[in-house]
Amino acid sequence: MDVKIGLECHAQLLTKSKLFCSCSTDYHDSKPNTHVCATCLGLPGALPVVNERAIRYGMKVALALGCEVQEEIIFYRKNYYYPDLPRGFQITQYDFPIAFNGLVRIESGGGDGGKEREIRITRVHMEEDPGRLVYIGTIDTAKYSLVDYNRSGMPLVEIVTEPDLKSPKEARIFLGKLRSTLEYLGVFDGDLEGAMRVDANISLEGGDRAEVKNISSYKGVERALSFEITRQKNLLRRGLKIQQETRHYDETRGITLSMRTKEFEHDYRYFPEPDLVRIRISDRIEEIKREIPELPDEKKKRFTSQYSITTEHANSLTYDINIADFYEEVASKIDMKLSATWIADVLKGELNYRSISMREASKRISTADFVAILRYLKDGVITERGATEIMREMLDRGGVKPEEIIKSKGLASIGSEEIEGAIDKVIKENEGAVEDYKVGKKEALNFLVGQVMKHTRGRAEPKEVRRLLVGKIESEF
Ligand code: ADP
Ligand code: MG
Ligand code: ZN
Repeated sequence: MDVKIGLECHAQLLTKSKLFCSCSTDYHDSKPNTHVCATCLGLPGALPVVNERAIRYGMKVALALGCEVQEEIIFYRKNYYYPDLPRGFQITQYDFPIAFNGLVRIESGGGDGGKEREIRITRVHMEEDPGRLVYIGTIDTAKYSLVDYNRSGMPLVEIVTEPDLKSPKEARIFLGKLRSTLEYLGVFDGDLEGAMRVDANISLEGGDRAEVKNISSYKGVERALSFEITRQKNLLRRGLKIQQETRHYDETRGITLSMRTKEFEHDYRYFPEPDLVRIRISDRIEEIKREIPELPDEKKKRFTSQYSITTEHANSLTYDINIADFYEEVASKIDMKLSATWIADVLKGELNYRSISMREASKRISTADFVAILRYLKDGVITERGATEIMREMLDRGGVKPEEIIKSKGLASIGSEEIEGAIDKVIKENEGAVEDYKVGKKEALNFLVGQVMKHTRGRAEPKEVRRLLVGKIESEF
């Protein structure tokens, strides 16, 4: 099945003020309609003034995505009426965007060993965000909706791809790579509600495409596209044609709904925004290039060679810039492979489980704490299980130190004498299991190890217990 997917990704840029006015962009925790002024409310006579930093951020994004930045940019009016757009037009870009022709590499296997694919970027441009409509119920059943203009005028960078993506999973991987790159640049925070919104275009077997508008989560994009594949396949099977149309994704039901037949460019009556001048940007390119930090692909390469860790670990550690920084700090103080394992395999799992970001987590567990835990582990003061338990406790409670947890939870590991004492007891209490093991029932050993772990309250390394236990039983043969 030939599937073509192209994405239009809108990312909110982390400037202090909005794109055409001085209202603060820090509205995410505020009451509706508290970050507004005449300009972003679109009141008659209010004039826009371009935020220089927003344009610089847009250029930075374009350069990081390998695009050709243009000489000049011109803002256009895109005319349409919707309640979230009080002016009746959106200020966006058209023929003279920031950049064209970029390229993003993704690993379509989604991690280690996956084959690398190149996704072409058509263009990168700037535009203002409209307000936010809140439906009471779902979009097709709501009796009324509310509107919040705090978002109105937020600076967005729109990144448009060619229809090079071949599956919903690839689309998700692409978005992950995009998020990661924008966060590396320090111009975007993917954790903020609604920070990235995507229009996903999809066609099957060379047919017309459907455009699913305004999907606000990464998982949502994948789910909406999967739904579309099924829907379009069913139509094709029945000999029907796919209509070119605009659809809405219903997050709670996981389905897409028809909104309207597709609008065309001429419907929007694009024309240059008469209240803004054209802006020459080409003389800033070199300066902005120098501000671009090491990006995920380069960092991944450096991590594999500098720290001799697996590509899988390097992948996992470089996706989130905050985790990458955390790792480098820890690895500069203690065994770099051990740190890689404990951050990529253990810490990240604990973060996922709690749905907290590394940035959030590092307020509760510092790199110094992490190094201390690994040092106790290396020195045999605690077991692996103990180390995990300390991390969990620190993430859950915050404001506690590893030493306190070792003490309060009695996590200090015990010596082999104490382990042997426990083994003797367990062997005596479980003659049946010992016999089973002797006649070759290997799973009996797991049971016995478990019993010893119980007696020692997890303060012994299971591997060590197994070794000592086997030695003891076999010496009795
Ligand atoms: P519009 O302005 O109507 O949204 P564009 O030509 O700018 O249309 O394309 C928007 C998006 O649609 C791009 O991401 C592009 O890759 C995607 N697209 C174009 N043709 C197809 C297709 N046949 N199948 C899937 N996606 C497509
Ligand atoms: Mg579009
Ligand atoms: Zn404003």
